[in-house]
Amino acid sequence: MDVKIARTAGFCWGVRRTVDKVLAVAADGGRPVVTLGPIIHNPQAVERMRERGVGTVAEVREVAPGTTVVVRTHGAVKPELALARERGLEVVDGTCPYVKYPQAMAQRLSREGYHVVVVGDANHAEVKGVVSFAEGPCTVVKPGAPLPEIKAKKVAVLAQTTCIGEEFERVVGALALRHKEVRAVNTICSDTEERQADARALARGVDAVVVVGGKNSANTRHLAEICREIQPRTWHVETADELDPAWFQGCGVVGLSAGASTPDWVIEGVAARLRGFP
Ligand code: SF4
Repeated sequence: MDVKIARTAGFCWGVRRTVDKVLAVAADGGRPVVTLGPIIHNPQAVERMRERGVGTVAEVREVAPGTTVVVRTHGAVKPELALARERGLEVVDGTCPYVKYPQAMAQRLSREGYHVVVVGDANHAEVKGVVSFAEGPCTVVKPGAPLPEIKAKKVAVLAQTTCIGEEFERVVGALALRHKEVRAVNTICSDTEERQADARALARGVDAVVVVGGKNSANTRHLAEICREIQPRTWHVETADELDPAWFQGCGVVGLSAGASTPDWVIEGVAARLRGFP
């Protein structure tokens, strides 16, 4: 079977930057290194990090003294960063600059008196971090969910960096009809927009699509949703082992896209197995 790999499949700029940072700190060898939460939403990459001596903690209070703490691409909540400082821990900030932007905007716009609305998943680490930077009321609107009633004249809308553009547009449009002033700050990262456009184009020209990446990765799940709307024969897998040859019966060309946190070796493994299917 022929495999067509999306141009943008695999690590984005932000993930590569953070992974390189962690590896550089770990290679230094001076102190134990832990990441605050999984470095990226990919179990295979986290496992490779563990093999190189990089641990993962859920909270700063679990960190042993003398350990270097790396903040992951998704950022961290403000009180955790404050606690790390208070404890005198060495902190390496791996937050993607595209995530720092909504954090800074949440802080600035709430100081300017806006009720901040974030379009995204309230349980996602990135959104939790952004919300923690707001210094006033803040509401998270889940993509596809109805808009809650917000009692405010001034509303500022931000997006999770991996949000689907149409969802951001929907929320901004609906709020514009309800509030006196709506300030929309499009914080969807350009890598996400490009990757989603690429996935759409890929899905149009193939007989099936495989999207590779962590099941806990929001951007990978969005890619699979986008592709499935165009090509119903779309599957989201984490590794080559999950592929079932029965999915591809009658297919000549399969498209392969991958999330921003999917390592190259995992993509290659999936592509190699697909090429071996009749
Ligand atoms: S997808 Fe965008 S926001 Fe997320 S880590 Fe990559 S570059 Fe940064």
